[in-house]
Amino acid sequence: NLSEKLQRSFKTLRGQGTLTDENINDALREIRLALLESDVNLNVAKDLIEHIRTKALGSQVATALSPAEQIVKIVRDELVEVLGRDTARFKFASQPPTVILMAGLQGSGKTTTSGKLAQWLKKGGHRPMLVSVDVYRPAAREQLKVVAQSINAQIYEGDTKGEAAGTPLVERLAREARREAANYGCDILIVDTAGRLGIDEALMEEMALLKKQLNPSEILFVADAMTGQDAVNSAKAFNDKLTITGSILTKMDGDSRGGAALSIRQITGQPVKFLGTGEKSDAFEPFHPDRIVGRILGMGDIATLLERADEKLDKTKAEAFAKKALSGDGFTLEDFREQLRQIKKLGSMQSILKMLPSVGPFAGMQQAAANVDESQFTRVESIINSMTNKERQNSSIINGSRRKRIAMGAGVQVSEVNNLLKQHAQMSKMFKTMGAGGSKMQQRLMSQ
Ligand code: GDP
Ligand code: MG
Repeated sequence: NLSEKLQRSFKTLRGQGTLTDENINDALREIRLALLESDVNLNVAKDLIEHIRTKALGSQVATALSPAEQIVKIVRDELVEVLGRDTARFKFASQPPTVILMAGLQGSGKTTTSGKLAQWLKKGGHRPMLVSVDVYRPAAREQLKVVAQSINAQIYEGDTKGEAAGTPLVERLAREARREAANYGCDILIVDTAGRLGIDEALMEEMALLKKQLNPSEILFVADAMTGQDAVNSAKAFNDKLTITGSILTKMDGDSRGGAALSIRQITGQPVKFLGTGEKSDAFEPFHPDRIVGRILGMGDIATLLERADEKLDKTKAEAFAKKALSGDGFTLEDFREQLRQIKKLGSMQSILKMLPSVGPFAGMQQAAANVDESQFTRVESIINSMTNKERQNSSIINGSRRKRIAMGAGVQVSEVNNLLKQHAQMSKMFKTMGAGGSKMQQRLMSQ
């Protein structure tokens, strides 16, 4: 991936004393290739490289940094520049409801993201209403309804019985939804639209009509980050027709390191505003250019991780856990299950590992991410679920026949139950030792 390639080109520079025309050229060639391979558009890559070259040549006298560090810094600053220095602001209409039009190809994540956006706005104190004008696929409207219910958001369903699917129906639903939003005191209307598998003239016409009719404050292009160059091409098509106000990159929890973000930003001239990082409604975050550049360059995204941990982890629970585990009271399977649940709240293990820097002590974590078996967590949890309360409190009472029953209940092999019990015993022991050491240290500190 891009990050590894860049790291490699930086490594070549690392052994050198100063930046020269020659080693700058070598590094730039590598960087250009790396950018192209990670779906950065050809013209975008060319522009970037020229800017970086100019800056690199001009910075030859700055000597506090090694050549490798200089190039990293220049590349980093340049990418941040392209992505927009600040986190993009959200635009609201002076006269509510603010209308947000979601655009994008089928499967890009529009419906999921409409729900995520609604939830995010709700958290910010807004009252969003959702409407789906994807009248071509009844399942799509049903999907939005389910999403709305799951996050407790208003939805305008409208009556579509007996009416042929087509642009007139789409326009009627949109018109009614806006009126309904105003009636219900909703300050924002999020319009989830139909998507096709490819750019389609009829669809574009419909989107243009919706734009004219609704005068949206935001037209957000939703792109599947995993589709790379295709996402960039459709971003261009949608922007040419609709003049989007920003984009949202979904599926950033996958393999993509964000090369598409650069291209889409550059091609549309509009900021990437949010990232989708999972299927759940809270796997969604405002886009921070400096952070994603860190991710692209393999410098990790510790800031995001810490922020997420802060928001999601229950501090009181965590503290109570630490106290209990480290005290003589021990670490039960119940505690183990609770810890698993807390970790799961942070997102998939893959997405967590990806945010760690790919250098220094964390080297190798990125590769580890590819091999993580997410289902392992669920399996362990279901094993613990299949135990009785008593067993969770005191695992030593679990005999051979109970192990079999538990394995059956959880749908796993007995060996997995055995492994879990062994692991738990080891952890228990470790915590106890740590606890004993800790209190000794505490005593020593107190006596000074
Ligand atoms: P639409 O056709 O544009 O409305 O796309 P959907 O919202 O129906 O999403 C298509 C698929 O992508 C669904 O299976 C979603 O769960 C999935 N999806 C959407 N956003 C994300 C994301 O950020 N991460 C992951 N892993 N999956 C996503
Ligand atoms: Mg949809």
